[in-house]
Amino acid sequence: MLLAEFPRLPLSYLPTPLEPLSRLSKALGGPSIWVKRDDCTGLGGGGSKTRKLEFLMAAAQRQRADAIITPGAIQSNHARLTAAAAAKLGMACHLLLEDIEADSDRDYRGNGNLLLDRILGAQLHHLPSGSDLELATESLVDELRETGRNPYVIPGGGSSPLGALGYVDCAFELLDQAKELRLAIDHVVLATGSGGTQAGLVAGLHLRHSSVAVLGICTSRSASEQQTKVGKLCDQTLELLGCTRPLPREAIKTNSDYVGQGDGIPTRGMIKAVSLAARSEGLLLDPVYTGKAMAGLADLIDQGEFKNEDNVVFLHSGGSHALFGYRSTFDGV
Ligand SMILES: *Cc1c(COP(=O)(O)O)cnc(C)c1O
Repeated sequence: MLLAEFPRLPLSYLPTPLEPLSRLSKALGGPSIWVKRDDCTGLGGGGSKTRKLEFLMAAAQRQRADAIITPGAIQSNHARLTAAAAAKLGMACHLLLEDIEADSDRDYRGNGNLLLDRILGAQLHHLPSGSDLELATESLVDELRETGRNPYVIPGGGSSPLGALGYVDCAFELLDQAKELRLAIDHVVLATGSGGTQAGLVAGLHLRHSSVAVLGICTSRSASEQQTKVGKLCDQTLELLGCTRPLPREAIKTNSDYVGQGDGIPTRGMIKAVSLAARSEGLLLDPVYTGKAMAGLADLIDQGEFKNEDNVVFLHSGGSHALFGYRSTFDGV
């Protein structure tokens, strides 16, 4: 089935801008860096997940769902944006929020995305770290069905082949913008977590026979685990779109040198990168994903991984609202 044939709801402002970051490029002293502003998708504060939700929520509506269930970490952007999409479509939203960090910080546990989840009217179900999320999801599905509701489950990060279609579309959008700007993109650098963003983007570029290289900076697991995860999802996404031309394994590039101690745990590189982007471009990154991805990009430029004449597009996937959950992290900044 072609991308255009999938049911889809217009939940995002598209196309998102593609802009040069000249002061940041100069500060880092390497390739020309551009930013794809997927933090500006509009709905519920914006971010990458609205692209995935256009397809996922359309599927939910087709199944006449009246409640959405999705899991995430406490400061999950995906949870916030799912709550926003559900509100817009008049559905209930249940968020299964896992304590990943076992962090007692007051802002982490009450501000940022969590505050917005509550304002958006989502029902929050807190689970201790290490909980069986699948089991918790199943029992919530049963519970809601018993009260006559028709729940629809969206996987963590919206990262199913259907959700990844949002980033297949983003790949097409990016290539169209590059053509219009006469910009020869050499690399796309992005943060990768649940994998759907990178999988969809790589699938879209493959469908268009593009030679743009995509590098995923991991925020949670080892580079090889992430490569397997993204590769599998990318294959499934291509299959969903009826593409039988195999994807070369080297199309899935992952780097996990900038995770630090773990998912959502701040690093010095992240703090530095968030400050640099803010002070050189007025661009607000986030502490969990794009801050670490930018820390990676800055370090890789330092290591000479890019040519000075390269054009590198940094995908800003959103999440700056989480900064309010990380107030103390930026105390000395
Ligand atoms: C979810 C998210 C990502 C990671 O995208 P995946 O598709 O989960 O890999 C990156 N940045 C932000 C801000 C996100 O919310």
